[in-house]
Amino acid sequence: MVIAIDGPAASGKGTLARRLAAHFGHAHLDTGLLYRAVARDLIDRGESLSDAAAAAAAAAALDVGRLSDARLREHRIGEAASVVSAFAPVRDALLAFQRRFAAQPSGAVLDGRDIGTVVCPDAVIKLYVTASPEERAARRHREASLAGEDADYRTVLDDIRRRDERDESRASAPLRIAPDAVVLDTTGLSPDQVFARALELVCAARGAGQGATERLL
Ligand code: C5P
Repeated sequence: MVIAIDGPAASGKGTLARRLAAHFGHAHLDTGLLYRAVARDLIDRGESLSDAAAAAAAAAALDVGRLSDARLREHRIGEAASVVSAFAPVRDALLAFQRRFAAQPSGAVLDGRDIGTVVCPDAVIKLYVTASPEERAARRHREASLAGEDADYRTVLDDIRRRDERDESRASAPLRIAPDAVVLDTTGLSPDQVFARALELVCAARGAGQGATERLL
């Protein structure tokens, strides 16, 4: 079974994806890490982030065994990832890996921006996790403050808005709500409340899927 989770930055989709994967014993892929790793490799090679050919080459040569690199979580790498992710050849180069990951027999949860629309259009359940920009900025700001970083709420909010605009307006696989996705607005909800709601939705979808299989037999 594949659970596809999409949504904008800091919507809570990563936390939810991890919890659902642990609950169902599925593998989990944070696909944002792939784009972040491409950006890291470009930066390390001293290439320009606006060089589409260099970005595509970095994506084709990506070592997916290095996704646990702590640097990938850095703010500037996230910003750079949102620039290189707009190049169609970069997205194409990462597609096969994501689809292979989704196809593993133990089941998979993938989270990103285009999982339900492009990577796994046949996923059993598609969730679009969102929250207001102000709430997402407040969450990011809180995380940064707890981590001892010197972050300013207004700057975080501006970054979130810029990232949303870039992800939604690009020509290649823009951030969109798949027509068959369930929208989960997490504004004002705790991670536990989001998880409980998602669990209900996934269980309902799985039940419906089993019913359909039984009807076919
Ligand atoms: O989710 P995260 O913030 O780690 O993603 C970093 C950037 O990678 C996003 O802003 C987005 O531009 C890009 N991305 C994407 N498609 C995905 C996952 C991430 O374009 N499936």
